[in-house]
Amino acid sequence: MTRGPGLAIGLEIHVQLATRTKLFCGDRVEFGAAPNTRVCPVCLGLPGALPVLNEAAVRLAVRAALGLGCVVHETSQFARKNYFYPDLPKGYQITQLDRPLATAGSVALAAGTEAGGGRSVRIRRLHLEEDAGKSVHDRFPGRSAVDLNRAGVPLIEIVTEPDLTSPSDARLFLIGLKRTLEYLEVSDCDMEKGSLRVDANLSVRSAGNASPGEPTELKNLNSFANLERALRFEAERQQKVVEAGGAVRRETLLWDVDADAARPIRSKTAALDYRYFPEPDLPPVRVDPALIEAARAALPEPPHLRARRFRHAYGLTPDHAEVLTATRRLADYFEAAAAAAADPSAAANWVMTEVLAWLNRSAVELADYPVPPARLGELLRMVGDGTISTTMGRHVLARMTETGQRAAHIVEEEGLTQVSDDDRIAAWIAEALAAHPEEAARLRAGEAKLRGFFVGRVMKRSDGTADPRRTEEILRRGID
Ligand code: MN
Repeated sequence: MTRGPGLAIGLEIHVQLATRTKLFCGDRVEFGAAPNTRVCPVCLGLPGALPVLNEAAVRLAVRAALGLGCVVHETSQFARKNYFYPDLPKGYQITQLDRPLATAGSVALAAGTEAGGGRSVRIRRLHLEEDAGKSVHDRFPGRSAVDLNRAGVPLIEIVTEPDLTSPSDARLFLIGLKRTLEYLEVSDCDMEKGSLRVDANLSVRSAGNASPGEPTELKNLNSFANLERALRFEAERQQKVVEAGGAVRRETLLWDVDADAARPIRSKTAALDYRYFPEPDLPPVRVDPALIEAARAALPEPPHLRARRFRHAYGLTPDHAEVLTATRRLADYFEAAAAAAADPSAAANWVMTEVLAWLNRSAVELADYPVPPARLGELLRMVGDGTISTTMGRHVLARMTETGQRAAHIVEEEGLTQVSDDDRIAAWIAEALAAHPEEAARLRAGEAKLRGFFVGRVMKRSDGTADPRRTEEILRRGID
């Protein structure tokens, strides 16, 4: 079968697992600790030091693998990947090669959304490995330093098949994958801290050719935008080579953010010989089938299914369902508030506008938002049953974030209960009409849009306590 020209893109994603300690020793995993203070003979590779596998890392890796639809193998094997680099004190990395922890997964193209149109991306493998240390180039002028705190930190490496066909799909996929991993709570996925790092390989398929050409590998793509930009750059470069009748060479390119260009770092014509061999200091990894089944049973609802359920169960639009499932915590918050308010659409509106806006303005994470969802629900019930107006509700919520007090307490203390009493509202209306005789005359002459003006005046006179709907009604009846 021949196919038109196109791209074949695969990703390789390294994800730091959220364990307390490293993969083969008891050193704490701690971002930003003073350099070389989280090290020991094992992760420094001192002679005679022996690795011991961290079971928590295996559990997280199993959960990640299941969440990505992989088959988890009961037996896998660590291997040594030998190479020389200053940030690799042992002279080899402990990783997995022939017998990875998991294989044959599949993830919706846009796992966080409905945007992928049902397409999916195959996961070739997912394996466990240790991270290397970090070379630091900005600490001493003209010299490089090495920080080994990161050496031995547990990673999973996720390798996709080259199923992605455009740079924008690659970006969409990575966004969804990150969201899925966050839901699985296997990593903080913080790309700025390097907890999630992505490399990509790309090849162009020329028209009439069934199989794509030689792929090149792109490194240093540490954001969604860089991933997409680098892939666009490299696709264009390869297309030009092919159109000129040339052949793309297999090589590794480093994305240079400042230059907005990719440069070759090494040629892989003869693949680097890492002299892989089975790790002699560690027995094969055995994962009990019962543990796999328990982990499968405990998987959280994935984000795209949760978004779908939000649409159907709560009548949310696709856009709103997506906003409210952006993180597992936000989705949990919304669901708890909706239940407490007994009004999902009010909860959705208030969470998306008031709550998110406040968090944005204050640069605070939802985890630290001072109003628990049950309290927001209480407030929404008071708005819903007309105890206070929507405007007043906003004011009360603002006071709740400042004081930590419940809505009912603030409403009572500040005397904010909405006035629906017709006589009192009529008195405010009379005052407002008298204060604005010209507008009052136009209103009486039939200029209906002035009703809104007078509702506003009444709200002002009543310090916002008048029921605006009732006020509008009385105005309409009175004037007609
Ligand atoms: Mn790796």
